[in-house]
Amino acid sequence: MVINMDQYKKDTICVQAGWKPGNGQPRLSPIIQSTTFKYDSSEQMGRLFDLEDSGYFYTRLQNPTNDMAAQKICELEGGFAAMLTSSGQAANYYAVFNICEAGDHMVMSSTVYGGTFNLLTCTMKKMGISCTVVDPDAPAEELEKAFQENTKCVFAETIANPALVVLDIEKFAKLAHAHHCLLIVDNTFATPVNCSPFDWGADIITHSTTKYMDGHGAAVGGCIVDSGNFDWAAYPDKYPGLCTPDESYHGIVYTEKFGRGAYITKATSQLMRDLGSIQSPMHAFLLNLGLETLALRMERHCSNALKVARFLESHEKVAWVNYPGLPGNKYYDLAQKYMPSGTCGVIAFGLKGGRAAAGEMMDKLHLAVIATHVADSKTCVLHPASHTHRQMTDEQLVEAGVAPDLIRLSVGIENADDIIADLAQALETV
Ligand SMILES: *Cc1c(COP(=O)(O)O)cnc(C)c1O
Repeated sequence: MVINMDQYKKDTICVQAGWKPGNGQPRLSPIIQSTTFKYDSSEQMGRLFDLEDSGYFYTRLQNPTNDMAAQKICELEGGFAAMLTSSGQAANYYAVFNICEAGDHMVMSSTVYGGTFNLLTCTMKKMGISCTVVDPDAPAEELEKAFQENTKCVFAETIANPALVVLDIEKFAKLAHAHHCLLIVDNTFATPVNCSPFDWGADIITHSTTKYMDGHGAAVGGCIVDSGNFDWAAYPDKYPGLCTPDESYHGIVYTEKFGRGAYITKATSQLMRDLGSIQSPMHAFLLNLGLETLALRMERHCSNALKVARFLESHEKVAWVNYPGLPGNKYYDLAQKYMPSGTCGVIAFGLKGGRAAAGEMMDKLHLAVIATHVADSKTCVLHPASHTHRQMTDEQLVEAGVAPDLIRLSVGIENADDIIADLAQALETV
């Protein structure tokens, strides 16, 4: 029996979606640690290669363990289809490259994650795909100017890492759709537990599953989810990759053959086949375990972060605190609209002593460790201007919402009092 998970709340989906064991089968999603799959006839194998049948044949394209975790994320997002990738970077790359080719253009929010900024403005430029960077807080009339005849998509993050800018998803979706473009949002920080971008008009959602979804700092991974709502076939000239024959599959037209599944089918059968950024089944297994407790952990991340933000806000050595869950924050109202049950566990703040004091304070922390990571169960801290974003110029840093003194604190699921005590003793010393 196929259980329809639509009737369940997200915390139940976290635990139960994906793998549905049959009689006598393992309760936990098994790891299908195999590169290859056996078939009885040559004819059957041939049909798989022609996309005439669906089935597994080689793990570079698809693996059952991956698909079970992808299905769970798909249901959490309320999407139509989903696929895992080897990293969040690969997810964002595929999400864009699946519909853009040389000569195309895209619009991107200036506050996206540093890795995404590089990917979309530098690396993809070398592939002939240009990108206009916009201020996500600009009014719609201003943003209009960024669109061109050849614009194919708009890219932004629901909560920007590390600027913590909350995206006005509806504003961006309306703009994108008015220009017959799709809206791709990276929902890594909010997670589907806190934010449902498809409900507000987003077309494609990406994730770095490395963050809250895995949640334990164990496995790098990514995910792409398609709402199935974008009508590619209405704009065949704009999206030829989906609407005209694919020579590498004997002239298949993805929209005709796969309908709402066209986008994910193309990304799997074409991009994954040719570029190969697949997640390992072992990682997908770990991801699925992480997802089981995602809703529980997000609740704790958010309540801890709010307590820590309040502590920092009241501390005399702290110059500023940015946490969208904090009343009075610039993005508080947008956060209440798009993520009413919580935002994320990440806080940005600066010290009155500036950049020098930031490094000094971070060196004195015991419980919070300095790590190039964010959004997992263990509290960690990073100074983006010296670490993740060090390749960016001062102007780019400001544009990205990353002040030179910004400390990114990723609040874990330890006891909030212990996290606060650790910060208090470190702040004592600067
Ligand atoms: C970390 C991160 C990425 C990149 O993901 P990886 O899994 O590290 O490749 C992309 N977007 C956001 C918002 C991130 O936080």
